[in-house]
Order: sequence, then C-alpha cells, then structure tokens
Amino acid sequence: MRILISLVSSSTSTGLHLLSVSRRLHTKISPFSTLIGLKPPPAMATSEDSLRRSLAEKQSSIESQGNTVRALKAANAEKATVDEAIEKLNALKLDKSVMEKQLQAAVNGNGPDGSINKEAFRQAVVNTLERRLFYIPSFKIYRGVAGLYDYGPPGCAVKSNVLSFWRQHFVLEENMLEVDCPCVTPEAVLKASGHVDKFTDLMVKDEKTGTCYRADHLLKDFCNEKIQKDLSISAEKAAELKHVLAMLDDLSAEELGAKIKEYGITAPDTKNPLSDPYPFNLMFQTSIGPSGLSPGYMRPETAQGIFVNFKDLYYYNGNKLPFAAAQIGQAFRNEISPRQGLLRVREFTLAEIEHFVDPEYKSHPKYSEVADLEFLMFPREQQISAQSAKKIQLGEAVSKGIVNNETLGYFIGRVYLFLTRLGIDKDRLRFRQHLAKEMAHYAADCWDAEIESSYGWIECVGIADRSAYDLHAHTEKSGVPLVAHEKFSEPKEVEKLVIAPVKKELGLAFKGNQKKVVEALEAMNEKEALDMKASLETKGVVEFYVCTLGENVTIKKNMVSISKEKKKEHQRTFTPSVIEPSFGIGRIIYCLYEHSFYMRPSKAGDEQLNVFRFPPLVAPIKCTVFPLVQNQQYENVAKIISKSLTAAGISHKIDITGTSIGKRYARTDELGVPFAITVDSISSVTIRERDSKDQIRVDVEEAAPVMKSVTDGHRTWADVWGSFPHHSSGSAED
Ligand code: AMP
Repeated sequence: MRILISLVSSSTSTGLHLLSVSRRLHTKISPFSTLIGLKPPPAMATSEDSLRRSLAEKQSSIESQGNTVRALKAANAEKATVDEAIEKLNALKLDKSVMEKQLQAAVNGNGPDGSINKEAFRQAVVNTLERRLFYIPSFKIYRGVAGLYDYGPPGCAVKSNVLSFWRQHFVLEENMLEVDCPCVTPEAVLKASGHVDKFTDLMVKDEKTGTCYRADHLLKDFCNEKIQKDLSISAEKAAELKHVLAMLDDLSAEELGAKIKEYGITAPDTKNPLSDPYPFNLMFQTSIGPSGLSPGYMRPETAQGIFVNFKDLYYYNGNKLPFAAAQIGQAFRNEISPRQGLLRVREFTLAEIEHFVDPEYKSHPKYSEVADLEFLMFPREQQISAQSAKKIQLGEAVSKGIVNNETLGYFIGRVYLFLTRLGIDKDRLRFRQHLAKEMAHYAADCWDAEIESSYGWIECVGIADRSAYDLHAHTEKSGVPLVAHEKFSEPKEVEKLVIAPVKKELGLAFKGNQKKVVEALEAMNEKEALDMKASLETKGVVEFYVCTLGENVTIKKNMVSISKEKKKEHQRTFTPSVIEPSFGIGRIIYCLYEHSFYMRPSKAGDEQLNVFRFPPLVAPIKCTVFPLVQNQQYENVAKIISKSLTAAGISHKIDITGTSIGKRYARTDELGVPFAITVDSISSVTIRERDSKDQIRVDVEEAAPVMKSVTDGHRTWADVWGSFPHHSSGSAED
C-alpha cells in the first residue's frame, strides 16, 4: 500500500529504485549478456569509481603529451623525436578509449565490447511477448491508452498460474480468510484511510505546453543519464548523483524542486522550463448512483476492503488473533506518466494480505521455518552510506533488530520463497528497507521486495508493519470499534485514570461550548491529565487549550475530577497491528518474463531462437503433443494422449501441422512450454524437455501420468530421465 501520511512524503514508493549501478560494478557477469547466449563480459577487476579517476588522469596526460608534441614541432625538433612523442600520445589515446569502454560497461552492466545492452535485451523480450500475445496494448485499434494493457491467452494462463500458486503458498498455508470486495468505493472510506487527502505523487508541468511529468522520474532520469552516458564527469560528481538516486524516495517537494533547478532540468520533449513540484492525487474519481451526490473512487488498493470488514472477520475467526485476511483484485491509479510497459500501469492486479496481530506479541509460530534463509537485504543504513545490498541471514536480521519483528521477518521469508519458486533469480532479488521519510509516519518498519530487470530495480512486493493506523482511522470515522480483546485467565487488578468532568459547573461556565470542553477533557492522555491535576491542586485553576474551539479556556478545580482508581479487569481491549504484504502481480510477472528469457542458436546455427524457461508451475501450457509426421494413426495416438492429459488436468496443445519438428519445438519454446510429446510410433512416444532438449521414451499409456508427476512437482525431470530409456540433446531433432 502506497499511501504516505508522512509530513514530507514524496510518495514514490512505486518508483523504481535504480540503486543498482554500484552493485553491478561487483557483478561478474551481466544477466543481460548471459541470457541471450552471447559472450559474457570478463570479470570487472576495477570499480567504476577508480575507472573515473584513472580516466581523468589519462585525459590530463593526453593534454600534457599533446603540449609536448606541439612544443617539439614548434621548436623544429628532429623527426624521430617528434614521431616518438606522437607515438606516445597515440598510445595514451588508445588507453583512454579502452578505459572509456570499460567504464561504459561498468555503468551499464554491459560487456566491455559493448556487445549487448539492456535495451536490446528488453526489446527481444517485449517483441516475443507481444508477438505471442502474452499481452496486448489495450484498445490498440483506437491507438491505445497509455498505462492500460490486455493479457492475451498465454499471459492469462501465466497470471492464473501465479495467482493459484499465491493462494496455495499464502492463503492455504496460513488458513487466511479470503474476501472479494468491490472496486468502486465510497468517499468516506478513502477519506478515513487518508487516500483522498494524501494519495499523491509530485508532478511538474511544462510551463508553456502544460504537459505533466512525475517530478522524481525527471530527476532520476537526469542522474542516470549523466552517470551512464557522460564519461567525463568526475568520480565525486558521480558519487553525488548516486546519492541523489539513493535518497530519491526521501526528498520533499521543496528538495525535489531545488534539485531540479540546481541541475537545470527542463521538460524532456520541449526543453521548456518546469513548474515547481506539486501533489497530484492518483485516484480515479466517480460518483455512485445517478444523482451525482454520492462521490466515490475506484479503489487504489484492495486493503481497505479488508480493514472495513475487520469486525466480522474477527468474529468469523472465533474472536482470536492472530489471523490474516487476503484479497486479490484490481486496483486503479491514475499514474502521471505511465511508462516501462507492464511495470507502471493505470489498472493492475494486487494480491494483498492483512495479518492482524496483537501489538504486544509480534512473534510468529512458524518463524523458525524461514529464519535460516539467507538472501540479499538492503537495510536503510547501507543505502544512506552508498553501500550495496548484502546477503544476510533472515534470523540474524531479526535478532539484530534490522527487521522490526518476527512476523514481519516471517513474511519477508515467505515472499522470498514465493518469488524464487516462481522462477525469479535469487541473485536479482533484494529486500530493501524504506528510508525514514519514505515510510509512513505510523509504520513500524517497511521492506520492499525489489527485482532487478532491464529497467533497474523494481518494487514488486511491499511488506509493511502498519501498526494500528488503519483500524484506528476507520474506528474513528465510522464509530464502529475495530478492536480485539484478550481474555485474562484470572482477573487482573489495574490502576486506571478516571477523568470525570463536572458537567453542571462546565455548563455554567461555557454554556454552548460545554460539550466541546467536556470532550477535550475526556480526550486527555495520562500525562496531560496528571499535569492538570497537579496544577489544579496547587493553583486551583489551569489554562486549557480546546482544539475544537481553537482557544484556551480556564478550568477551575470544581469543574473536573481526576483520579487514579484500582479496578479488576477480565480482559484487555486493543487495536490490532497490521502486517501487510502487498503484491503487484503484473510487475512480478513482467520480471519473471525477463528472468526466464534467453536465446539460443538453431541447430543449423543460422538464427537465434527465443525461449522462456518457465518452471512447469508457471508455464502457460504444460506440454504440446505432436505427431512426428502427418499420419492418421499417429494423430489418433495424439488424440488419445490429449484426452488423458485433459482428464489429468494438464493444459496442453496438439500441433498436427505439417511443419518440421524443429519449427514446432521452436514455437512452443517461445511460449515457455516445458515438455513436448512427439508421437513417432503407435506404442510409445518421446517426451522432450525444453531447456536441456533431452528426451525419454515412454509407452503411450504412461505419457499422461509422467507429465502429471513432473508438472505438479512430484518428480523432477532428472528423476524421470533416469527411469526411462533416454537420449540427450546431442541426438535431438532440433
Ligand atoms: P504500494 O501500495 O504503492 O506499495 O503498491 C503495492 C504494489 O503494487 C507495489 O509493490 C507494486 O508491485 C504494485 N504497483 C504499484 N503501483 C503500480 C502501477 N502503477 N503499476 C503496476 N503495479 C503497481
């Protein structure tokens, strides 16, 4: 959930965090080069920082050698001496150009020969996705609308697989209570949650054309562009720009505006000056019913539907804590300038969990199951001091207080397992802690699961301890107490503060304002009340500020009695804290596409073939069935196998076209289909695994059971490969 009620929020939690530049310096092999099967760059021996310094030194050596050559020529020095000096100059220039290439490679994560870059990689992925209808720009025949996309058949299947695994991994595993609430939400709900007033991003306008831009994005683009393309900037300047990038989510409107001015950033399309940043509310407004008198919004998140149902869900759960509720549904955000394809859209699927817990017991019974996991974490301190994410054991992060509590740690661990089981590369997944000002003021701690893609590090899951903020806010505005109770095994004696306004005296003194004064007195916290009691006892009167009146009133000793009384209590009433993992399903899926994509040469070596290495869990179709040649008997066998696959619930596709087997394999590899069954006899068939291209031979009746066991994860391909006659890819047809 993005709402930030912090005082100086720049509200950029959906922003991409391109803090990866320095991390990539230490990355031996760029993912983008290995994935498309091109020569990986050699290990980077030297850091970007020292390369920038050496480059500056080399430039000054070139200048001084240039002067030497000019001086020798002016002095009519001997030809041999001049030639020697020129040779030295050329050698220096050559060194400089090698260094520039190394630096370019270091900042872009490319091979030093510039062989591959992220844009080219992305283009290859996106072309494949669009051509095979994983997604389609919505309303394309009307030229489309920025930030709106349709999922085509394989995209729908992938999404449905991701969501069913989400249900299994979270809802089923934790016995969560799933709900499904409307997208259209009355204003009162989103007013209480703070979205109507604060769900904003900072926007700047082209002062001449009025075109709108997201302020932090312009600053981010400027810094990245400078770091990546301007090789002449000093190491100090590069460090400054990286610091700005690291702190981007922490900048207030004023700080952002000041940086935009300082760097002379103008409108990207026209180069016109820009306005100061100002907040733009991202919610789509509507009205409910024909009168137009009942304002509403398309929900910007699904969480509020769960909060407003807390009372009933708590009852459904037998009035017991902790419990979690979950919801999958569409969310709507009128993004200022959507870009980056599926990553920043105006309507998207969110899967959210609200885990309600007693604020005094934030331990988790299953915490030990994840405590030993070790993965990349990026705590606040490391970000501020320009370090990179490090592998930390989750248990250590919790015990050292880097992660606020066990339940938050438990969900961080479960999110890690969820994403890596889907096929996200664990080395390009990190958990980044929110910076102090980036985090809402009420939140106890927040971590984003960020996945590295060709666009940089992308926030895909937000995991926040939101304390009791939401339930408090809805209790206050709806008047319905959203609270939990803890029954004591034995009554407990507690000392309670009792504030008893004497209404008769207050009425005489304040007449029509009496009610507001009474309410203000009753709302005092313990310290305020005890201070007042002390003052009344010593001075007899006290000045008291009533905020609903906007003024001080004089309270006398006879107007209020303040005492501490001992009471027996049978239960404790409190507002639960909420731990919220919030998953942007479209972002996860896009990153999965990038992490799964690679290219390999065709058998003839004349073209590059695209492959998605989806695990069976995610693959849109689990297997294809091909008769090797067009022949009625083989087609009949293919149909028999297809029937048994359907009965076993395995999604598949029959391909009886006459094209070569190699082409048919290539077509399915491009959809990420993990297995292909080729009918080449009437008694047995081959099953080919997509990535190894290895094959096994099984009897016709065994084809469906073998497929079932490898696609539902009961057996691995290695298991079945060893159990059947097999041959490896060397002899494969393609
Ligand atoms: P937030 O409530 O801003 O923390 O967002 C929750 C999750 O929704 C994020 O972690 C993202 O994965 C996803 N998300 C937020 N905004 C967008 C967007 N405009 N397009 C796609 N996904 C988004």
